[in-house]
Amino acid sequence: MTSRTEVSCGRCGASHTLNTYSIVNVGEQPELKAQVLDGSLFVWECPHCGSRNLIRGKLLYHDPSERLMVWLTGGDRELEAKASEAYGGFGEIKDYVLRFVDEPGDLIEKVKVFDAGLDDVVMEMTKYVSRLEVAESLKDRAVDIVNAAFRFLKLDGADNEITFAYPLDGAMQMVAVGFNVYEDCRGILQRNPEIAAAAVGFTRVDAAFVAGFFR
Ligand SMILES: [Zn+2]
Repeated sequence: MTSRTEVSCGRCGASHTLNTYSIVNVGEQPELKAQVLDGSLFVWECPHCGSRNLIRGKLLYHDPSERLMVWLTGGDRELEAKASEAYGGFGEIKDYVLRFVDEPGDLIEKVKVFDAGLDDVVMEMTKYVSRLEVAESLKDRAVDIVNAAFRFLKLDGADNEITFAYPLDGAMQMVAVGFNVYEDCRGILQRNPEIAAAAVGFTRVDAAFVAGFFR
């Protein structure tokens, strides 16, 4: 589903009308999934100066085969409250994973996590543990690392190594983590079912979500 949006270029100020997506159903339009993953769905190029601008619209991403809906709300808490309230009335999405995210990068990460066959609650806990481990190994930078946003990049290799990216001093750093860390976190979640229970329905599952259980 698209709507027409008036935008103006951040560099030259030229205004332009775009067709932007408000709902992307990758079951109906599988080609849009690649555009989500490479970020091109969130960018428009100014026809006057060629500058690339970010599209700041809201977007509901729906993958019926993965039973996944991720709502890029841009932090619109009013919309989120309405969606959470309405959720109880939609029996057909009862078995879905339903998420709110603030930024396109958060949406891309969710799609990657579920594409890799992983669980995002376990993944957020894996990030939490990995951040502490990296901070422990780089003691003089511990505070910066504990506060850095880790992003899941990929799961690869024979040992299913997980690679995270995080910003430090204006550059992206990468860290590879053994799959055993993910498995340990999955074990912790199995022993603490209230954490997964808190992620049912439309929820924001991020660093703050996990940190809330470790205070
Ligand atoms: Zn321009």
